[in-house]
Amino acid sequence: MTPLLKRREFLIQSSRAGIACCAVLMGASRLAHGNSMPLKAGEPIDPKSLNYCGYKCPADCTFLLASQKNDPELKKKAYEQWKIKEKYNVDFDPEKIYCFGCKNREKPEGLVLTNCTVRQCVISKNLDCCVECRDLDGCKKELWDQFPDFKKIVVEMQKQYFTQQAG
Ligand code: SF4
Ligand code: SF4
Repeated sequence: MTPLLKRREFLIQSSRAGIACCAVLMGASRLAHGNSMPLKAGEPIDPKSLNYCGYKCPADCTFLLASQKNDPELKKKAYEQWKIKEKYNVDFDPEKIYCFGCKNREKPEGLVLTNCTVRQCVISKNLDCCVECRDLDGCKKELWDQFPDFKKIVVEMQKQYFTQQAG
């Protein structure tokens, strides 16, 4: 029997596991949860309410809170947790380390956002989210390669989205 995904649970647990926002930065080993969580049948998928990859930033994200509070200590924590040095070879500077969320167009885009190839791609296609993209299944972007279980979940979300669109 195909497991159904409880999307809300997934979003909560995946954020704790450190996947997606931004999975590319967090390291594949943190992906402890995969497609074993069931997707709640009938729960509508709203691409506008999701981040570009299908993730949803948790309100208590360390990086987000650090940025909102402009708190250097918290920013340092996020800098280390998101492995900014390893990923971008950027030294810690509280003025340069911030993230206000994947879709927050009113705030400057930090390193995490500007380096996300999925985000760039979705914006270039004028979509709200990868769940709308017919190329998702075969998409080879780094995010999907690093987090195949996350991709499976987004593919499942897409199936549900297309079904709901057809209905
Ligand atoms: S699209 Fe990229 S920047 Fe946005 S939440 Fe997903 S991984 Fe993070
Ligand atoms: S090709 Fe489609 S699935 Fe891949 S990143 Fe771009 S919008 Fe998302």
